[in-house]
Amino acid sequence: MKIICIGRNYRDHIAELRSATPKAPLFFMKPETAIIRAGLPFFYPDFSKEIHYEIELVYRICKLGKHIQPRFAHTYYKEVGVGIDFTARDVQRECQQNGTPWEIAKAFDGSAAISDFVPMESLQNPNDIRFSLKKNGETVQDGRSGMMIHDVDSLITHVSKYVTIKMGDYLFTGTPAGVGPVVPGDTLELFLENTSMLRLLIK
Ligand code: MG
Repeated sequence: MKIICIGRNYRDHIAELRSATPKAPLFFMKPETAIIRAGLPFFYPDFSKEIHYEIELVYRICKLGKHIQPRFAHTYYKEVGVGIDFTARDVQRECQQNGTPWEIAKAFDGSAAISDFVPMESLQNPNDIRFSLKKNGETVQDGRSGMMIHDVDSLITHVSKYVTIKMGDYLFTGTPAGVGPVVPGDTLELFLENTSMLRLLIK
């Protein structure tokens, strides 16, 4: 199982970080050990002083594929959930300045919180799924999948050009604006449409 994450897929988030808009989807990976197991908190790591939350829609891949054509991409997922792509923003900035890979800022243990999943057919509008994040009870991020620069089908086509995707893989699809820091004691609550999907304590 692997976790594939898309970066810079919402214009309002690109603007808030003053990043450049990539021509093609930008992706990176997190290992299996990044997943926070059900019921466990996020433990603030000692190598960063600036851990940010990024809520993202997460699709679970349901079959193996390579070089997936756009018209077939929708057959590679049946369920969607929400997750947090925890990011050591200070470390990431340093990586970007030095031109080195991002793994130590993005792929560390506990850097991927993932909710339960719901079937795509249970959603009213699967092409414009609303998702949001509350920090300590206050909404800090609120997005819709229709705002993605590259939609999930394009992402699957792009990623599978380079990497075989397999049943059970997770695809994080990028975060909208509103990312920000967490500190120990904070609680994050992730919503898909109006349903609370996951509550997470920062320790
Ligand atoms: Mg992200």
